[in-house]
Amino acid sequence: MTDRPPVRVAVLDGPDVRLHQLELPDRPPGQTDVAVTLAAICGSDVHTVQGDRPAPPLAALGHEAVGRVAAADPDATDLRGAPLRPGDRVALSMINSCGRCDRCTHGLSMKCRSLFKYGHASASEPPYASGMLAELVRVLPGTPVLVIPDDVPDALVVSAGCAVATAVAALSVAAVGPGDEVVVTGAGAVGFYCAAMLATAGATVTVHDPSPQRRELVAQLGVRTEACAPEPRSRAGDGPAVVVEASGHPDAVTGALGCVGVGGHVVAAGSVSPGSTSITIDPALLVTSRIRLTGVHNYTADEFARGVDWLLEHRDALPVDRLTAPPVPLAAVAGAIAAVPTASHLRLTVRP
Ligand SMILES: [Zn+2]
Ligand SMILES: [Zn+2]
Repeated sequence: MTDRPPVRVAVLDGPDVRLHQLELPDRPPGQTDVAVTLAAICGSDVHTVQGDRPAPPLAALGHEAVGRVAAADPDATDLRGAPLRPGDRVALSMINSCGRCDRCTHGLSMKCRSLFKYGHASASEPPYASGMLAELVRVLPGTPVLVIPDDVPDALVVSAGCAVATAVAALSVAAVGPGDEVVVTGAGAVGFYCAAMLATAGATVTVHDPSPQRRELVAQLGVRTEACAPEPRSRAGDGPAVVVEASGHPDAVTGALGCVGVGGHVVAAGSVSPGSTSITIDPALLVTSRIRLTGVHNYTADEFARGVDWLLEHRDALPVDRLTAPPVPLAAVAGAIAAVPTASHLRLTVRP
């Protein structure tokens, strides 16, 4: 331990979210300290706090953030080999994979056998400062980090490491081309970014979400919206080529399978809380209509980088002020997490 002042990090302590004064040991070689300038609260943080997903004691919360390098090795680089120097602004990934195991070497780095996820580990175990709802996050070697220009607003890139990269991953499996008809169910952050990316790729997108506020936000992208669930495929088997299920509602997965056209592809990216729900599927639906169903969870380093590039390329077209609420101080993090389910913005944010 050193005589540095403690770092304030948001933790889940029993059922309560509180700020923890973390006495951080010296930075081990290879690790990079990033001072968080803006962090966002993801729905997964809410699930963790509500006990819907397992969490270790003193779980360090938060996995969407942007910040500035506070300390790094002299030869540290970002994902593309650019030097990482103190003061550099960086977009952060939430996942760290080993790059060597059988899954990492077979295109499944997002399911690495020793996968580490920020915002899901204990603040009492290395690297300790592993949550991003914090003043500082300690980034492990191999975690995708990208230097971003100084003029990019924090709010534009704050969700790069979860919602944006997950949207890239969801669309990567579906091979959507210009003019393809695509349905997105759920207009939370992942659904919003899927719709936005599909629109910029020239697809014909319809987003289904019961929330008028979310529909209005998506409509700003020039995308069609519907309040109701998608119509079942026609008697002739016609329907959208791709359905991206981003709501996480089990009924929406069944609905997607019943709506996608013959030969179509359902990408399920919303259901991340294991065991809480179940659905009944008629396998003949998949078989006789030649439907593919692909689950997508997490993303690769390349998908993270493509997400950051897409954000920078489309920064002027995105309604960032409507996506992210004005930040609250870190001391108000517990109230902000509690306010997520009724928030009018897709992301509530915290500025440490
Ligand atoms: Zn998330
Ligand atoms: Zn691995």
